[in-house]
Amino acid sequence: MAVAGPSIVSRKPFSAAIGTSQAWIRGAAESLFSVLFPSDCRICAAPLLNISRLPVCPDCLEKIQAIRGKVCSVCGDRVLSSYAIDDASGLRICPVCRRVERPFDRAVAYGSYDGGLRELIHLLKFNGVRPAAGVLGRMLAESIAALDASFEQATVLVIPVPLFKGKRHQRGFNQAESIARAALKYLAQGGRLKPRADILLRTRDTHSQIGLTSHQRRENMRGAFTVARATEVTGREVLLVDDVYTTGTTASECARVLRRAGAAKVWVATVARTMKLASKYADAGMDEVEFEAEPARAAG
Ligand SMILES: [Zn+2]
Ligand SMILES: [Zn+2]
Repeated sequence: MAVAGPSIVSRKPFSAAIGTSQAWIRGAAESLFSVLFPSDCRICAAPLLNISRLPVCPDCLEKIQAIRGKVCSVCGDRVLSSYAIDDASGLRICPVCRRVERPFDRAVAYGSYDGGLRELIHLLKFNGVRPAAGVLGRMLAESIAALDASFEQATVLVIPVPLFKGKRHQRGFNQAESIARAALKYLAQGGRLKPRADILLRTRDTHSQIGLTSHQRRENMRGAFTVARATEVTGREVLLVDDVYTTGTTASECARVLRRAGAAKVWVATVARTMKLASKYADAGMDEVEFEAEPARAAG
């Protein structure tokens, strides 16, 4: 009887190994099939006519449009025409940015975080559709180009918002870094922009920001990021890049940490942005909404 035990035990890993290899073969066969034969569009489910590494149809890609209309010169949110008063320097500042000092100099985004653009970002982030980074990078390049005239130094450090290492390991890549790398290929001044993914680190995982008040969001982010090489940031101009700007808490916390490390300027560029004001105004049917004020950053 004592012999039976180990023989059963030794058989288990063997059968488990068979199961794994079958799964692997099936997975490889499926991915080979999807390369050789076009599948359906992952956004609208229409059959794809051409073989492409990105399983999204041309119609869905064409529908993704850049943000049009008047946006805040600081945070990039949509500004209603009644607020679209340009100040003496020609800047258009939204009601929130008039009251709150942002830790970054300016944030720009390519498109609104909804519809096909939201789907495309989710395909990259949650479904591991890596070729989506190329298309998203081209969009990010356009939003970076909008900042071009503002850059002052000969070189600008491009820093992707980092993921916590556990999450990065699980996902296999940092989408912000992949999109940034793709964007730099499209930019004529790519030589001026120096990608640096080793400067800003996420030292703590953070909970989902959904449903939190602005105060809770800041508490959630506090201490989540550190600058590993402060001397390389001191006096430098930094371009922080991410896939999405939602509440701005992540970008603000990264910018705050970079400024504390001595960054001269922090610009923010994202592929997408939630258009908060527009939806709030539309939902409320009002022309003015009271916003939860974030306390201005203490001087120094
Ligand atoms: Zn489609
Ligand atoms: Zn603003």
